[in-house]
Amino acid sequence: MDRKRSTELFDQARNLIPGGVNSPARAWNSVGGTPIFFERGEGSRAWDADGNSYIDYVCSWGPLILGHAHPEIIKAAQDAAGSGTSFGAPTELEVRMAQLVADAVPSIELVRFVNSGTEATMSALRLARAYTGRNRIIKFDGGYHGHDDALLVEAGSGVAAQGIANSAGVHPDYAAATMVADYNDTASVERLLEAYKGEVAAIIVEPVAGNMGVVPPQPGFLESLRELADSHGALLIFDEVITGFRAAYGGAQSVYGVGPDITCLGKIVGGGFPVGAYGASKEIMQTVAPLGPMYQAGTLSGNPVAMAAGIKTLELLQEPGIYDRIAANTEKLASGLGTVFAEAEVPAQINSVCGAFTVFFSEAPVTDMKSASATDRDAFARFFHAMTERGVYPPPSQFEAWFVSAAHTDEDVEQTLAAARDALTG
Ligand SMILES: *Cc1c(COP(=O)(O)O)cnc(C)c1O
Repeated sequence: MDRKRSTELFDQARNLIPGGVNSPARAWNSVGGTPIFFERGEGSRAWDADGNSYIDYVCSWGPLILGHAHPEIIKAAQDAAGSGTSFGAPTELEVRMAQLVADAVPSIELVRFVNSGTEATMSALRLARAYTGRNRIIKFDGGYHGHDDALLVEAGSGVAAQGIANSAGVHPDYAAATMVADYNDTASVERLLEAYKGEVAAIIVEPVAGNMGVVPPQPGFLESLRELADSHGALLIFDEVITGFRAAYGGAQSVYGVGPDITCLGKIVGGGFPVGAYGASKEIMQTVAPLGPMYQAGTLSGNPVAMAAGIKTLELLQEPGIYDRIAANTEKLASGLGTVFAEAEVPAQINSVCGAFTVFFSEAPVTDMKSASATDRDAFARFFHAMTERGVYPPPSQFEAWFVSAAHTDEDVEQTLAAARDALTG
């Protein structure tokens, strides 16, 4: 496969943009090699700058649950753009979008739209602090919530009193207020809540972890977080930026039957345009300006183009049977890859939920960041390159989800499994 044009573009980009990319995971640092520059997408496929075609399992890292360039979404965005792209004043589209979100997500009564998932989680933390009058936050090792200072913190060891910032430039006071527990380990949360009684504003969690690769919650884990948050007067924040409108139309909270106090949304909610959202009960959202003392604003927030694309996406996702189809295709890929790996005698763990899965190169089950880190990442990198050579584009990191859209077909699944068989044995 010739990727000459991608290589030329990457060389130019590196002289103009840090690392040649506008978001680090795009640089392929964890798998090595030169990133593919894409030019066009349609349905489940994307074409690169050299004209090669791929079955796309990145799907823009989640937003494209209906595939690339869905004609109805494109038309909705074009129609909206033709009437003006932004007013900095309210529009009817925002009202319709808010109604759709409130109807979909059980725990949301009032919702505020922002421009990214990062803005949603950042604002949710500010809201939790404003509402509770407390400052500490508990997050989970391997949980990614965007690049807000307070959330760029990973695990210290044991009951870490001080978070360790894993980005340079994060103010140490922010990092210190963020404490890290282990995913699927209720006791690690309880210890922190006990050690800092009355100081924890919120527990923020991806209800299905998606940024250590896909790691579903073990039975009872989310229920325990709900109980612990209540008994300690902390708020529970579900970061559903990936799982919202993916795990189910109502998000992971509707699948597992556990309601958070605050929900963060992003990715799918914008239909491929930059949108994030945070929402909660009226009681909590009354804290947000102009109703209350917590300031949060955005010049382009709720702009008509993004709202129109989001509305059309959510309307299309209400079509009966669509989640059954996405779930069935995810299951076919997950179990099919399981068989292919078993036949090739390559140890693998395949974790999946509706619309997302991860193939871990590991003999042991992956249930948290520690077990995810123990997987064979070199083997993943080789597999990644072998797949792209065969016209399948998986996420360029072991710690990311493969996203399955409603546009992926049975034929895509068969081709993907054949490519994997060939990649492992060829
Ligand atoms: C992608 C992601 C974010 C950040 O969203 P951006 O739109 O990239 O800022 C936050 N939380 C989770 C769980 C994510 O996967």
